[in-house]
Amino acid sequence: MKFFHLILICAFCLASAALGCQDRRLYKDNRVMMGTFVEVTSPDERASGIAFAEVARIEALLSKYDPDSEISRLNKSGLLKVSPETIYILQKAKEIWLASGGAFDVTVGPLMDLWGFTDKKYACPQEGQIKKALSYIGMDKISFNNKNNVVKFKVLGVKIDLGAIGKGFAVDCAVKKLKERGIKSCLVNAGGHIYCLGDRSGRPWKIAIQDPRKLGFAGYVKLKDRAIATSGDYRQFFIEGNRRYAHIIDPRTGYPADSGVISATVIAPDCTTADAIATAVFVLGEGKGREFAKNFKEVELTVIAK
Ligand code: ADP
Ligand code: MG
Repeated sequence: MKFFHLILICAFCLASAALGCQDRRLYKDNRVMMGTFVEVTSPDERASGIAFAEVARIEALLSKYDPDSEISRLNKSGLLKVSPETIYILQKAKEIWLASGGAFDVTVGPLMDLWGFTDKKYACPQEGQIKKALSYIGMDKISFNNKNNVVKFKVLGVKIDLGAIGKGFAVDCAVKKLKERGIKSCLVNAGGHIYCLGDRSGRPWKIAIQDPRKLGFAGYVKLKDRAIATSGDYRQFFIEGNRRYAHIIDPRTGYPADSGVISATVIAPDCTTADAIATAVFVLGEGKGREFAKNFKEVELTVIAK
């Protein structure tokens, strides 16, 4: 009997020791949203439901592909009373537009259409078409009133495209909801726009950075309560005449950005900032990009050049 007890105690100790070095169980779920995969990982089973609902709410406000979204209705009419979220994101976009000297500009919509990135029917436009599209570009062509939330286009033909800031913002909104519901550990990843909430079983989350030219990773970072986002020329592009044309446009020239940067990864306190800065650095190039990034607190850059 005693011997049997001893065996049981040993088995129990071994099991506890094994459990002690194991992570808590993580629940993982993913969904196609905002034109990408949104993946949620957390020891709390409720996390994915909360995050997906919030991302869906933000997508319904901001997507240019949804004809009923606030952005689509605004693009159509040029005048609309919008939600506080839409005003917030436009304001944030304007700050980054100013700081980047126009390299980051959410009015790139007409240029995205012209180069075929909106409907994936890629084409190199004529010089004259680019010149015409440029006359609709610039955040100075939009006015918004913080008191009544009314947004107005000063020029007919302006078109907002929040592709470079919307996914980061959706991640931040999801994280806010998770925190409100008492969730302290979660990874929210919307197509490489990531927030690491808390840690994972006492250790930071480990995030791999995609190699822009070959399958595999260029490196990894360990993060806790931080956001990370990457802009690169390897996800959406077309090749014509030996040149790669990627989906990030230099709004100052009307042509796809060609700054020498092929991937810009930004770590920031929030994902909205990380998302937008990554795009701006991709357009500005490494030197000017690093200068520009100094405008923002607690931001770290990893740039991979050609
Ligand atoms: P990803 O979509 O992979 O996150 P980005 O965050 O860099 O890449 O966003 C690129 C998208 O942002 C484009 O598909 C387009 O919708 C929009 N965009 C393109 N050029 C600019 C720019 N210079 N400033 C702001 N938005 C841009
Ligand atoms: Mg992005």
